[in-house]
Amino acid sequence: MSSLVADIFQSMFSSSLTWLMWPPKTLLQQSHNEDYDYDGIGSGLRRERPCRACNDFKTWIQTNRNERIKQQKQRQDNSELIRSDCPLDKDELGRNTWSLLHTMSVYYPEKPTADEQELMKNFIKGLARFYPCETCAKDFQIKIHNDPPQTENRHSLSMWWCRQHNNVNRKLGKREFDCNQLEQRWLNGWKDGSCD
Ligand SMILES: Cc1cc2nc3c(=O)[nH]c(=O)nc-3n(C[C@H](O)[C@H](O)[C@H](O)COP(=O)(O)OP(=O)(O)OC[C@H]3O[C@@H](n4cnc5c(N)ncnc54)[C@H](O)[C@@H]3O)c2cc1C
Repeated sequence: MSSLVADIFQSMFSSSLTWLMWPPKTLLQQSHNEDYDYDGIGSGLRRERPCRACNDFKTWIQTNRNERIKQQKQRQDNSELIRSDCPLDKDELGRNTWSLLHTMSVYYPEKPTADEQELMKNFIKGLARFYPCETCAKDFQIKIHNDPPQTENRHSLSMWWCRQHNNVNRKLGKREFDCNQLEQRWLNGWKDGSCD
């Protein structure tokens, strides 16, 4: 019993000693030496923010400004670390595929041969079969069954793709594209010269 009382007394005594010595001297010194606040007592982590109370106002403003610039640069460096060579998600795949399809259609021959028309039909059939987003591919197969590819000439094919894309836009609740602007968007650039 007496040893239990002694234990309790000893633990109380040692914890009050710890509080008397708080915060640890080294951290306190570092804090003032380096003019930085610390992220929680004992964490030893330096906050990004310089210690306002450690400086006169002019120095603090200047340090704060330098710190902000440093942080901005760090954010830029981090965004450069986001890789651009990773596998595509559904939206990236969609955007890249539409880019190819619309571009291909505005460069399609004005007067394609029967052979070229057949090749294009097969290409579209293959795309609908192998498009890597399964639900997209299934829907697209139904769409081309109801509205078969129009490969007679450049205009009919590019308008057909525009319609197909608008079908998907509608399904996803997106704004429809004005098909009269196809050539500006995918061939010549906007009339205001913003792509030149
Ligand atoms: C065949 C196919 C089927 C798809 N089916 C689905 C699906 O079922 N579900 C799904 O979630 N996603 C589907 N996608 C992907 C989807 O269409 C989008 O690509 C994706 O959501 C990213 O959209 P976005 O807003 O970035 O622009 P996108 O729709 O990819 O468009 C890219 C650019 O094309 C231009 N554009 C837009 N509409 C037209 C148009 N009608 N004609 C010409 N140019 C246009 C615009 O300038 C736009 O910025 C499909 C893609 C393809 C190729």
